[in-house]
Amino acid sequence: MRVVFVIYLSVTFVVTAAHFFADYARTQASILAELQELEKTVHESFETNLWQLSYPQLDALSKGLVGMPIVEGIDVIDPHEKTIVSLRGFVSDVKPFSLFYIETPLQRVLNGQIIPLGKIRLYSSSNVIFDRVLFGFSLVAVTVIVKLSILWALFLMAFRRFLAAPLEKLMSQVATVQLEHIGDKRIDLGVADQNELHQLQDRFNVMLDTLERDRKTMLQAEHERQELLEKEVASRTEELLDMNKKLAELSETDSLTGIRNRRSFFQQSQTLLDLAVRQQQPLCFLILDLDHFKLINDQYGHVVGDHVLCQFTKTVAAQLRKTDVLGRVGGEEFAVCLPDTELDGGHMLATKICQAVAKNHFECDGLVIDYTVSIGLVVRAREDKQISQLFQKADAKLYQAKENGRNCVEL
Ligand code: GH3
Ligand code: MG
Ligand code: MG
Repeated sequence: MRVVFVIYLSVTFVVTAAHFFADYARTQASILAELQELEKTVHESFETNLWQLSYPQLDALSKGLVGMPIVEGIDVIDPHEKTIVSLRGFVSDVKPFSLFYIETPLQRVLNGQIIPLGKIRLYSSSNVIFDRVLFGFSLVAVTVIVKLSILWALFLMAFRRFLAAPLEKLMSQVATVQLEHIGDKRIDLGVADQNELHQLQDRFNVMLDTLERDRKTMLQAEHERQELLEKEVASRTEELLDMNKKLAELSETDSLTGIRNRRSFFQQSQTLLDLAVRQQQPLCFLILDLDHFKLINDQYGHVVGDHVLCQFTKTVAAQLRKTDVLGRVGGEEFAVCLPDTELDGGHMLATKICQAVAKNHFECDGLVIDYTVSIGLVVRAREDKQISQLFQKADAKLYQAKENGRNCVEL
C-alpha cells in the first residue's frame, strides 16, 4: 500500500510540475506579446522625445510605463550603448528570480536616411507570471488534493470492505482449522457475489474436503495395517509359544525312548522328594540297568540294541502308575521315582518289572533276543533330602544286584 501510495504521489507530482512549467512558458510568451503591443503604443513618443532630446518627457513616459502591472523595468539606451533612462519597479517586494524583456530599435528617417536613435527595452519578470499563473495553479492544486483525498478514502474503504476484511476473516478461519480434526469445518467468508473471494473460499473448501477425505483414507489404511500387524504378531507369538513348548519338551525328553532325560528326571524326582519330605510320605527310588547289554550290541549291532532299549522302556512304563516318574539316566541305565510308596510296594513293583522284562523277548528278522534287568531299590530315609543321595544308595544296591548274579532286585 505504501509503495502504491508513493508511486501515485510521485506521478501526480511529476504531472503537476509539467503542467506548471507548460503554463509558465505559455504565460511568459503571452506577456512578451503584450509588452510588444505596449511598446508599439509608446514607440512613436519615445522616438520623438529622443530626437528632440527632451529627457524630462522621456523620464515621465518611462515612469508611466513602469507603473503598468506587466512592466517591471525599462531601459532607454543611446546608439553608443550608453543608458539614458533605466527604471525598475517590481510589482511586489520580492525580487524576481528571472527577468525577461523585449528590445526594439529607435530611429528616425530624415530625407530618406535612417538615423539610429538607440533602443528601448521593456522588462517583465517571473513575479508577473506567478501572479497570473498562481491563482489558476492553486485552483488546480486544491482540486488535485481534494480529488486525491476522496479517491484514497474511497479506495481504502473499498479495499477494507471488499478485500482486507474478508482476508482477515479467511485468515482467522484458516487458523482454526486443525488438520487432524477437519471434520465438516469449512470456510465461510459471507461473500454473496460470485467474485474472486468467493472462488477463493470455494477452492479452500475443496482443499479441505480433499484433505479430510485423504486423512480418512490414510486412517483406514493405517487401521487395516495395524490390524494386519496385530494378527501377524499374534500368529507369530502363537508359533513362538508352540516352538518354545516343543523346545522345552525336546530339552526334557530322551530322543531315543521318548521318556524324560536325565536332567528332567532329576528335576521332577527332586520335586516329588521335596513333597514327600514335607508331607512325611514314603518314596521309593529304583535304578534299572540292562544286563550284559554290551553283548547284545556286539552280537546284533547298535540299531538292534536301540530297539531293545525302546521295547524295555515300554515294558517298564506299562508297570507304572501315572504319578510315578521314569527317566533314562545313562546309556542303558534307567531310574524310577515312586511317590507315596513304601519299601514293600516298591519291591513288589521292581520284582514285577524284573519278571516282565525277563519274560519279554525282542524279535527281529527271525531272531529272538532275551534280555534281563538288574534293579537297585531304596526307600527314602529321614536324612535323604537330595535325590542324588537316593541315587547313590540305589546305585550301590544295583552294584550288589549285579554281584548277586543279575536279573534280580536288591533292597
Ligand atoms: P552289565 O551287566 O555289567 O551292566 O554289563 P553291560 O554290558 O550292560 O555293561 P557295560 O557298561 O559294559 O556296557 C553298557 C553298554 O551299553 C555299552 C554301550 O555300548 C551300550 N549302550 C549305551 N548306550 C546305548 C545306546 O543308546 N544304544 C545302544 N544300542 N547301546 C548303548
Ligand atoms: Mg550300565
Ligand atoms: Mg548294563
